Amino acid sequence: MSTSLPVSDSSLSFWHQTTRSFPHLNKNRDVSVPPTSQYAVIGSGISGALTAWELIKRGVKGEDILILEAREAVSGATGRNAGHVRPDAFRGFPSFAARHGPAQAKKIIESERVVLQKVKDFVESNGVDCDFYHTTTIDVCLSIEFANHQSRSLAAFEAVGGDTSHIRIYQGEDAKARTRNPAAICAYEWPAASNHPAKLTHWILNDVIHKGAKLWTHCPVSNIIKHHGEGKAYNLRWDLHTPRGVASVDTVIHCTNAYAAALLPELSGFITPLRSQVHAFVPTAAASAENRFKQTMSLRYSLGHYFSINQLPRDGTIIIGGSGTRDDGDTDDRIKEEMVTFDDSQYSQRIANNSTREFQNLLLEPCSESLRAGEGLRNAWTGILGMTSDNVPLIGPIEGLEGQWICAGFNGHGMARIFLCAPGLVKLISGKPWSETGLPECFQYSTKRVDGERNAQLKGKL
Ligand SMILES: Cc1cc2nc3c(=O)[nH]c(=O)nc-3n(C[C@H](O)[C@H](O)[C@H](O)COP(=O)(O)OP(=O)(O)OC[C@H]3O[C@@H](n4cnc5c(N)ncnc54)[C@H](O)[C@@H]3O)c2cc1C
Repeated sequence: MSTSLPVSDSSLSFWHQTTRSFPHLNKNRDVSVPPTSQYAVIGSGISGALTAWELIKRGVKGEDILILEAREAVSGATGRNAGHVRPDAFRGFPSFAARHGPAQAKKIIESERVVLQKVKDFVESNGVDCDFYHTTTIDVCLSIEFANHQSRSLAAFEAVGGDTSHIRIYQGEDAKARTRNPAAICAYEWPAASNHPAKLTHWILNDVIHKGAKLWTHCPVSNIIKHHGEGKAYNLRWDLHTPRGVASVDTVIHCTNAYAAALLPELSGFITPLRSQVHAFVPTAAASAENRFKQTMSLRYSLGHYFSINQLPRDGTIIIGGSGTRDDGDTDDRIKEEMVTFDDSQYSQRIANNSTREFQNLLLEPCSESLRAGEGLRNAWTGILGMTSDNVPLIGPIEGLEGQWICAGFNGHGMARIFLCAPGLVKLISGKPWSETGLPECFQYSTKRVDGERNAQLKGKL
């Protein structure tokens, strides 16, 4: 897979459609970049915005931070996701344990629970208007195989001392009643939240801009090369090339997620794109008013075949993250071709049809065979996940490129990770040791980790 900058004609998500009045959406789009800055944060998603916010919190002057964004503000995965802040409570434990060992796997699961609390504290203490909804979430098991997988995962997590006291389990009729789904075999419920991810990130960008930070949108960084010569105000180490000039800076922070390898070729093949699709539906009476779904859900047929459900308390819109796999007649090659891409300008009609079918199965009124005009699919869109070869993010200094740092590779789970990763990275930048970040050690960037994975792939071992 080759690398790529973000495509310029990306589609608009429901979150984008409902925030077109954000005043900094196209900030400085026609202005040359400032020639120097102490810090350059590349990317204006939740990682870039929160990294800038944490730098300021730790004493950096806002004026010393330049945020460079390839498209409009928050146009990457953050502005396109399914709106969940949903910690993995135990499901991923076996696969993390196989890759990183049981102790790290336990830490990964535990850290996501911490992130939920951190997002809640951030939103509440700052009074952020982002439709944050603290609730519970339910994994609904719709096949015997997946039900067995869940019970094995829970047992494995508990066997290493994992805390599951916050998880409620429903079987048979109880599961059907709790999930309003007659096909449910069993269900697992635990605390989680939903939010409007663009509103949250806009709030953070607005705050850092208010404190002096400079946001340059529609300004892709195409190349970073070593700076020659001395800076007056700053120790200049790197030149960032953009279509609107060169910014020379001391410290570069890559918050570019799926696109990271475009500027860091050493990550090519390690961070790769995976397109994912989401849909906004107008509910039928079965999920309107008092019938609204109060919990978020994941309807799970298998690990790879699922639909996430998130009904927004503010207006009742139902956000369904659609699964692209296992439709009749699909082949792995076709799925790969459709999903392994940087193109977020289009969506798949096939996946939209799958999600619409799921919506109708769940919500069509009894005895009704069709939707009323105005009900059903309102919008479909795609976004690009930043997948890593070993399924965990890359955080820390980039070896061999002194003054460059990375916070990327969230494997489709950033809202449950970044509120620990971005503050953790800023602690490292300020000279604190890894142990103070609270992050699992396996998240740490190292050449050994990246090369090791890539070499193993080349040898066909993974
Ligand atoms: C469809 C979809 C659904 C998802 N659902 C969920 C969910 O429900 N819950 C959850 O926890 N996670 C979810 N995720 C994942 C989550 O959205 C991401 O993990 C998270 O938003 C990553 O944030 P980020 O800031 O690191 O990356 P991004 O938001 O992608 O930000 C990176 C930014 O960098 C910019 N950029 C890239 N390269 C350059 C360059 N060279 N120069 C300038 N700018 C550049 C991009 O334009 C982009 O704005 C989903 C993702 C997708 C795509």
